[in-house]
Amino acid sequence: MTAQEKVTALRAQDLTKYVEKYVAILRDQLWLGEWVLEISVVDHPGGNPHSDANCDPFDGQKRAKMEFATRIVDDPAELKRTVAHELLHLFHRDQTDVIRLTMQRALGSDAFEILWESFRQQTELMVDNLTTALVPLLANPEPRR
Ligand SMILES: [Zn+2]
Repeated sequence: MTAQEKVTALRAQDLTKYVEKYVAILRDQLWLGEWVLEISVVDHPGGNPHSDANCDPFDGQKRAKMEFATRIVDDPAELKRTVAHELLHLFHRDQTDVIRLTMQRALGSDAFEILWESFRQQTELMVDNLTTALVPLLANPEPRR
């Protein structure tokens, strides 16, 4: 590991601790305290360079992996909105699984792809609208140092 890679790794650890603390505050405010969340701050959440964050719940568990983009951490409004948005995705996990885990077999892959894509788009809109409604009620992130 080069000196530059060490600096980058230390900064990522630092950012992850900061975001972890804030996620725990909003998780509790949203009554999601039973969820175990694995937080990391990365350049490309979910492997996507254009994504602000990614939320990946584990099947059958109240446990999820959440990745947040490095670039949003220093913008308090963006961080708040993004953390709230990703947490709100946890509320529809079981509902999503009804579609994700049962409909493919029932419909075959072409019909399933159409259903899945429109379900995902509508779910994203719902989560965005709920985020807009709830953000004013949620705690702001502490300033970072
Ligand atoms: Zn989303």
